[in-house]
Amino acid sequence: MGVSMSYCSSFSYSDPRNQVQNPADVSDQERIDFWARQARERLSWGKLWDEDKTHEFIPPRLVDVREDGVQEFSVPTIKWFEGGQLNVAYNCVDRHVEQGFGDKVALFFEGEPGDREAITYAQLQRRVAQAAHGLERLGVVKGDRVVVYLPVIPETIIFALACARIGAIHSLVFGGFSAEALKFRVEDTGAKVLITTDGQNRRGKVVPVKSIADEACSSENNIEHVVVVNRTSATEQERQSVPWCLGRDVWYHDLIEGVPDTHDYPLHDAEDPLFIIYTSGTTGQPKGLVHTMGGYLTQTAYSHALLYDLLPDIVDADGVLRPDELATRNNRQKVADTVHWCTADLAWVTAHTYEIYGPLVNGVSQVIFEGTPDTPTFERHFEMIERYGVTNYYTAPTLIRSLMGAFPHGPEPGKYDFSSVRLLGSVGESINPQAWYWLREHIGSGRASFIDTWWQSETGSTICSPRPHDPQFAPEGTFEQGTPGIAVKPGCATRAIPGVSVRVVDEHGEPVQTGAQGFIVVDKVGPSMARTVWKNPQRYLDSYWRHYGERGWFLAGDGAKQDEDGDIYILGRIDDVINISGHRLSTIEIESALVRHEAVVEAGVCPVEDELTGHQAVAFVTLSDEGKALSSSELRKVLELHIRSEIGPIAKPKDVVAVAEIPKTRSGKITRRLLSQLYERKPLGDTSSLQNDEALRDIAQVLSCS
Ligand code: ATP
Ligand code: MG
Repeated sequence: MGVSMSYCSSFSYSDPRNQVQNPADVSDQERIDFWARQARERLSWGKLWDEDKTHEFIPPRLVDVREDGVQEFSVPTIKWFEGGQLNVAYNCVDRHVEQGFGDKVALFFEGEPGDREAITYAQLQRRVAQAAHGLERLGVVKGDRVVVYLPVIPETIIFALACARIGAIHSLVFGGFSAEALKFRVEDTGAKVLITTDGQNRRGKVVPVKSIADEACSSENNIEHVVVVNRTSATEQERQSVPWCLGRDVWYHDLIEGVPDTHDYPLHDAEDPLFIIYTSGTTGQPKGLVHTMGGYLTQTAYSHALLYDLLPDIVDADGVLRPDELATRNNRQKVADTVHWCTADLAWVTAHTYEIYGPLVNGVSQVIFEGTPDTPTFERHFEMIERYGVTNYYTAPTLIRSLMGAFPHGPEPGKYDFSSVRLLGSVGESINPQAWYWLREHIGSGRASFIDTWWQSETGSTICSPRPHDPQFAPEGTFEQGTPGIAVKPGCATRAIPGVSVRVVDEHGEPVQTGAQGFIVVDKVGPSMARTVWKNPQRYLDSYWRHYGERGWFLAGDGAKQDEDGDIYILGRIDDVINISGHRLSTIEIESALVRHEAVVEAGVCPVEDELTGHQAVAFVTLSDEGKALSSSELRKVLELHIRSEIGPIAKPKDVVAVAEIPKTRSGKITRRLLSQLYERKPLGDTSSLQNDEALRDIAQVLSCS
């Protein structure tokens, strides 16, 4: 590759904070220049884009008004760095080896049964090369789709990178999904190759997987080959017993037999698709969002460096600007000291950005874990944080709440050494302050930075988040952030990161008053914004862009409010807002209030129709030992009183239902629409994204008895 570059996280230090200060106030040109600088200095390009093609954004245009008054818009166009060429896999792996970091561990893999492997960047380079040859052997060429249906194992990352290397478009599917959910994704992408395993380790058992993959492939889809990674067959006899379709199926180890461990990578255009990611399906049928190579990797590299504290401290504790050389050293030290752990399954967008591409493009070491956090016991994550000296622990509120349920007062004092933890992060749902404090106190030793990152599959990387602070410079016990003027507020996604901007507006696009609920829109998108919905540009327009039409604002679909400092609180999906007698209440706020009560471990609140008030809230709760000791009428009474005092009488739930589990998607999000449908005895919509189907049966039974 022709263009040389400085080491990945180094940067021009002329701008003291290395950031655009207030995203809303910068001009379009400054913003575009900002991203161009990030792209040039963080990535290695084979060919740079033409300067006048750094960014193109054509908002939806009104093309017609139908007789019934419905406005027809054109789909928006978003392009970044058009004409530039790069190779994403080279950027994530090979260049680190070329720069002398081949012996650095890229992945600390831990399997559920306890098997461990440390894979260096040099080893990763060889394994990606082999996988790329393997795919080419199967006839996979640039633009083909490859569905990767694997658990969290190194091969999942290796295949993603191998696809990126040759220009095939990967679509990762959660290894626990049913045949039905997999089939939908195989068919929607029109994939040529499906990659899977013989079996998976799940909660101490080996579960067959290949048969599920077989069910998802049929004569109706385009699958030509199924590649099977041997994960659970220890003996020849076990391998023989895996269901097999001759001519179509191939063991991965056979596929790469004798292939070279080097691979000449081609260059791809910045706007070539990198992957298709399906949304979680919390609100309906998942959408296949398309992300492209140059823009996605640029914003991923920058936001990972910004949020995980890899940017150099260019100012010393006493405020003196460090010379470039010292800042570079400081930055390298930070990269060297980082052990990143994003606990998401690799198939979620969270993991694409902050487990696959972000950490690798920035050259840090990271942990990947195959299992569930409670296998064999709920202490697994604690042990692993200590074992690998994890510095960044990035997880989901649902997981924090489960840990909190299991260890209300934290793990046994002194049992684990969490001194390595510098930074905590949360994503996926609003985090209840309760869970925020629990994690920071018990895992973050009361001093770690906490980033509450708000973003979506659509935006490709974080849009709003507090910045991390460097605890070294923050006096013990204060909540000072690295960015002046921003204080940490538990449960607050705070502000847009540099280079993008957001607004909180009403349905007509007018700003809402401080403290009032509105819709969050991204009015200036960054380079990692999804370009379209795969094969369905109309759905892209209709879902996200139609609402604000020619203004060109992306409707994220989440409610939000701003406090007097301008900091943003996410209030959950617009669909999850309950309108009681004209008062708009956020389900998340009611849930957070419920979780603050000692009787409740987790809560899911949903709207149900009510003749008098329009809607009412119904609360589904899982109970602590204190809660279980109460009768159902006592429970209802104490929680009603609690909500009255915490939020107000208007939010008082119509009903409180104690259940064993709250239904959630595979990415840990509460599916409130299913709670409403269950309560109202309506047919259930799409349930293929659920992680705990049995919760639905249990709730239906509880409701039928009540
Ligand atoms: P679907 O769009 O199919 O219903 P989904 O929205 O759950 O699925 P994702 O793109 O994985 O799919 O999730 C993004 C959503 O997760 C956001 O729109 C928001 O509702 C929620 N979310 C993510 N991070 C945060 C956060 N830090 N605070 C509050 N909500 C968050
Ligand atoms: Mg969504």
